Amino acid sequence: MRTVFANGVVFSGTGFARHDVVVEGDRIVGVGERLARDPRDRVLDCEGRVLCAPFVDLHTHLRFPGVDEADDPESIARAALAGGFAVLVAMANTVPPIDRVSRFKEASERFHGLVIEVIQAATVTMERQGERLVDVEELVEAGVSILSDDGSGIQRSDVMRDALVASQEYDVVIAQHSEDALLAGDGVVNDGAFAPLLGVGSIPEVAESVMVARDIELLKVIPGRLHLQHVSARESLNLFRQAKREGLRISAEVAPHHLLLTDSRVAQGDPRFKVNPPLRSVATQMALVQGVRDGTFDAIATDHAPHPHQRKAGSIREAAFGMLGLAEAFSVAWTALSRTAGGVQMLADSDLGGPAWATLASVLSALTTGPGTVLGRSAQLRQGALANLVILDPYAAPRVVPSRWYRSGNSPYVGEELVGRVDDVLVRGAQLVADGEVLDA
Ligand SMILES: [Zn+2]
Repeated sequence: MRTVFANGVVFSGTGFARHDVVVEGDRIVGVGERLARDPRDRVLDCEGRVLCAPFVDLHTHLRFPGVDEADDPESIARAALAGGFAVLVAMANTVPPIDRVSRFKEASERFHGLVIEVIQAATVTMERQGERLVDVEELVEAGVSILSDDGSGIQRSDVMRDALVASQEYDVVIAQHSEDALLAGDGVVNDGAFAPLLGVGSIPEVAESVMVARDIELLKVIPGRLHLQHVSARESLNLFRQAKREGLRISAEVAPHHLLLTDSRVAQGDPRFKVNPPLRSVATQMALVQGVRDGTFDAIATDHAPHPHQRKAGSIREAAFGMLGLAEAFSVAWTALSRTAGGVQMLADSDLGGPAWATLASVLSALTTGPGTVLGRSAQLRQGALANLVILDPYAAPRVVPSRWYRSGNSPYVGEELVGRVDDVLVRGAQLVADGEVLDA
């Protein structure tokens, strides 16, 4: 039986069109205007909704192995799916870290039966100590495609040089958590008005951008493959924009929370808003939003980081860094971006080529084709592709915030007014999310 998703607005990866999407078995067999129908077709009306490819998250903490008191991979996978994600990259800063083939295989096997696809990253250095490079050749043979010491930046320039040389030789991505440890010190929040108010140390933007600058300089002499994780500084964005213009093999992601939230959230010392890199000033937040809007950022990536209650319960100084945001990623990013485009009502009032729609396109490409390209795969809704599909409502508020699929409670979005929600998700023709409900057992 064929299913016709009728009257929706289809995002092709670049722009929008009012098209029907026809699914048969596990394939998209038609995308177009007023396609011929068969009386036996099941027709679903998608009026007022947007259809696109499922999202790809380049940055998730799945907390396996060793840190699963925060949440389990099954719940995280369901939250991801409810948020429209079908693929995610699991960070390697686990206990123990994923720095060798046996650990990579163990984690990959653990994730194999999940409702979404997990790409397990490996670390760049042994034990994530920043001193000795992992055996890249062996890891690549085992299936590794992306390496990151996320949680800390690679401090030693010679180690980073060697990592970039290896990335060129073995065609892998080196994803960098850009942070100079000495400049970040024991900082807790952004360098601004709130650190002295709270009596805690600060993490200035330059702690990030100084490492971005170094890595770009290295990339100019070593044509490796660099990806910048959770960019949160204006100067990092400027340097990245320039490096991209010069044709370097570089990509970058921004986190949804840096697009919506600013450092004033920490004014009361609420540890839910403690994240690394920290929430920044309004001026920086606006610059980051612009970086998505103009297509500079390749990806919006969540940095979803579940923590057990006790690690987020104490003072902001003692609490762990990190926040949730997988299920809410689209809503959070779209809320932040739509404000700059006159609000969601502008969508209804303008044609598909208008600026409000261009803004939605920038959010959707940063969740689909952008991160897909970083991973070297297509994440496009098109005829002939697998029937992987997200149906979203850009006008409606999300159903439940935070997602009830989370087991941990460190969401910064409780009580937040968000707009945009994921209604349905199909993977290989099978409906896995219906009206926001994850359908697996
Ligand atoms: Zn990080």
